[in-house]
Amino acid sequence: MRIDILTLFPQMFDGFLSCSIIGRARERDIVDVRLHDIRAYTHDKHHIVDEYPYGGGAGMVLKPEPIFEAVEAVKEELGLSSVPTVLLSPQGRLLNHEIARQLAHCQHLILICGHYEGIDERVAEHLATDEISIGDYLLSGGEVAAMVVVDCVVRLLPGVLGSETSLVEDSHTYGLLEYPQYTRPAIYRGWSVPSVLLSGNHGEIAQWRRQQSLLRTIKRRPDLIEKAALSDEDKRLLSEAFEIKS
Ligand code: SAM
Repeated sequence: MRIDILTLFPQMFDGFLSCSIIGRARERDIVDVRLHDIRAYTHDKHHIVDEYPYGGGAGMVLKPEPIFEAVEAVKEELGLSSVPTVLLSPQGRLLNHEIARQLAHCQHLILICGHYEGIDERVAEHLATDEISIGDYLLSGGEVAAMVVVDCVVRLLPGVLGSETSLVEDSHTYGLLEYPQYTRPAIYRGWSVPSVLLSGNHGEIAQWRRQQSLLRTIKRRPDLIEKAALSDEDKRLLSEAFEIKS
């Protein structure tokens, strides 16, 4: 997969792109991430990328020309007339696991990071094919949002994570939150790891984990459990848990 990111601050991505899972995915050529400085696509002496908003108001708005030209240059280099082009925006659809999964199927992806008061609306109307928000809060710029998108998409690419099972059981992958995880020591400051995890009985461990995952999701994210397709076994595990508690 190739991801092209348009930003005013390419240097913000340095650490992110060179470490951990993303760094390794790049080293192994699973993903090719290219950064494009929007300022490089200006033609005036002062490389102006923003202007006052028409109609007045506070702040500056990113001009459309360098952004259109940067996207067109990427498409030309790829030899493609259309490439999925995502504008990071607090007004976009909310990012979730399903959207990440869909983006992970794209061979090419362009991400546009806004800044200041935002971007001239013609970019959203005539250039971007999608607008994505990473949550109902305001960031100063789209760079952190672009990193979130790259991270959750790249970890879904085949061969990026060591163990494919960790993908299957992770929170949100199958519509529920993951069960609690423990590691050594078995007792820490008097707090013990649940005995079932030390039992070596894989059937019981799997059942306990599924039950914990269901309980945790009901308690913390009831909105998710309403959408999850629960099996008869899930319902049995839940009623068993509630019986034990009451
Ligand atoms: N004035 C804009 C508004 O009210 O919708 C907000 C501009 S924001 C300060 C600057 C840039 O940060 C946006 O253009 C966008 O690229 C990015 N941004 C801010 N919050 C975001 C969010 N929740 N998700 C994705 N991108 C965001």
